[in-house]
Amino acid sequence: MADVRLVNVQKSYGETHVLRDVNLAVRDGEFMVFVGPSGCGKSTLLRTIAGLEDITGGELSIGGRVVNDVPPAERGIAMVFQSYALYPHMDLYENMAFGLQLAKVPKAEIDAAVQHAAKILHIAHLLKRKPKDLSGGQRQRVAIGRAIVRKPEVFLFDEPLSNLDAALRVKMRYEFAKLHDELKTTMIYVTHDQVEAMTLADRIVVLSAGRIEQVGSPLELYEHP
Ligand code: ADP
Ligand code: ADP
Repeated sequence: MADVRLVNVQKSYGETHVLRDVNLAVRDGEFMVFVGPSGCGKSTLLRTIAGLEDITGGELSIGGRVVNDVPPAERGIAMVFQSYALYPHMDLYENMAFGLQLAKVPKAEIDAAVQHAAKILHIAHLLKRKPKDLSGGQRQRVAIGRAIVRKPEVFLFDEPLSNLDAALRVKMRYEFAKLHDELKTTMIYVTHDQVEAMTLADRIVVLSAGRIEQVGSPLELYEHP
């Protein structure tokens, strides 16, 4: 587990300021949700934490270590995207194992990690299937499984449920809450869905035009909107 700290973080594309002086401390083990209107910078903020975008000012640290110049693979994070990007020719086991195989993790260790993730996500009976033979919810579980096997200190989720239908979103929301209960890992989750934010978050960050407008628990934000 690890905390995530942003001090005066800025991100500009030329003259376009996408993040302006963002100051934020995500606690160890906290489930933090970023909300705000389309284009406010949620995704950019998440991607800077992941290291997929360089920041243009300020300081970013994960687990007490400044990571401004640390590449994504060495930040102790794993990111889950809204488009699952599973490998169509690989079965579920292989999809989850692949990243670890590339990293030359010993086979027995990979197997233990994949079986464990599959169990947590209730897809242990599907490991021989290909992505095309899965439902949307099952595919999303595999994408989460790929993140879990890496044992990250911080999970980053970019609108993970927005491609699913309403009924499945409700079900998966519950699965995310359970996942956090089980792993107790720091999780940062981007959504434009208020209900998702309210049900999942320990605290919610409300962004507007690249600035933090409010930070608080769902109850605090509900009582003082
Ligand atoms: P959100 O996730 O809240 O919808 P984003 O983080 O995707 O918002 O985008 C925030 C702002 O940054 C938007 O105005 C977007 O147009 C701008 N932006 C994102 N990426 C780039 C880029 N590569 N070049 C220029 N502007 C960008
Ligand atoms: P090898 O490629 O060396 O013959 P195996 O393919 O027999 O090794 O796999 C070794 C271990 O990896 C097994 O214990 C098994 O649990 C796991 N494994 C590998 N591929 C899969 C798969 N597609 N589904 C489930 N388990 C797998």
